[in-house]
Amino acid sequence: MSKIVAADIAHITAAAKALSRGELVAFPTETVYGLGGDAGNDRAVAAIYAAKGRPSFNPLIVHVGSLNAAASYAELSPDALALARRFWPGPLTLVLPRLPGCRLSLLVSAGMESVALRVPAHPVAQALLMLSNRPIAGPSANPSGRISPTTAAHVEEGLGDKVAMILDGGPCRIGLESTVVSLLGEEPQILRPGGIDAETLAAELGRPVGMAPQVGDVAAGLHGPGRLLSHYAPACPVRLNATSAAADEALLAFGPNVPPAAVVLNLSTTGDLTEAAANLFAMLRALDRPEVKGIAVMPVPETGLGTAINDRLRRAAAPR
Ligand code: AMP
Ligand code: MG
Repeated sequence: MSKIVAADIAHITAAAKALSRGELVAFPTETVYGLGGDAGNDRAVAAIYAAKGRPSFNPLIVHVGSLNAAASYAELSPDALALARRFWPGPLTLVLPRLPGCRLSLLVSAGMESVALRVPAHPVAQALLMLSNRPIAGPSANPSGRISPTTAAHVEEGLGDKVAMILDGGPCRIGLESTVVSLLGEEPQILRPGGIDAETLAAELGRPVGMAPQVGDVAAGLHGPGRLLSHYAPACPVRLNATSAAADEALLAFGPNVPPAAVVLNLSTTGDLTEAAANLFAMLRALDRPEVKGIAVMPVPETGLGTAINDRLRRAAAPR
């Protein structure tokens, strides 16, 4: 049965309720259709990664209803405020430092201290944000590696069986992803080009805006796009495929059969990969304490979300 529904107030209200239950809904924005989930709910965010079949945890854009809402999650520098006031609502995503105690899932940030925020202009996206009264994580609503959807029918084709409903707002006006700008460094940097170009941004800020290496560039080709992101890595060494823990090691367990250890956190006692993904970053941080000499991680199967979990664990364990 089709999941496509008219984006009228009754269906947007139903979509808002689905979000509050942790379900996923696809919604139109002026750029492309988004695969929406409650950005404060680790399980919902894990379900987004699972639905897209992403082989790694690329951080996700979080949609908020207003600049005020954005300010409750991230630190807005004068540059950030200038860009937000000029281009929000609209096709601009700002990568900003998370505020201490930020209530967004760490999974939307792929474990990092930054978060990508956008206020979309599309009236259906705005209505959904208002009625759900929560931030909405929303990557493009396509399976990983496929083209971004600009109609409800595209979404249905790729992800119809993964969402509670698809709000049909007609074809997207812009049809191209948002421009992603990082304001984390000295100089503002475009991480992903989009409709708003570097000159326009530079004119607004009155200073140069850089461009990060893009997929296809020689530099990006060598490292892969995900590796351009400086990921959080635990301070203590991480040991993978552990079947036991040493006396001074903490154990990051997975599944029902757990060897003895002084400190144990279990990603999922039932071996559920969505639950494990939801817990991954918070548990790594919780175990990364000065008195812990190392984190031993039990094997996680290399299937479904396990691929992304293992990718992240291998990065955490890589020599540095
Ligand atoms: P999508 O969710 O498919 O629209 O893609 C989101 C884009 O924003 C990707 O290019 C991400 O790498 C980028 N992005 C999201 N969050 C962050 C972040 N915290 N730091 C750097 N880049 C980010
Ligand atoms: Mg995408």
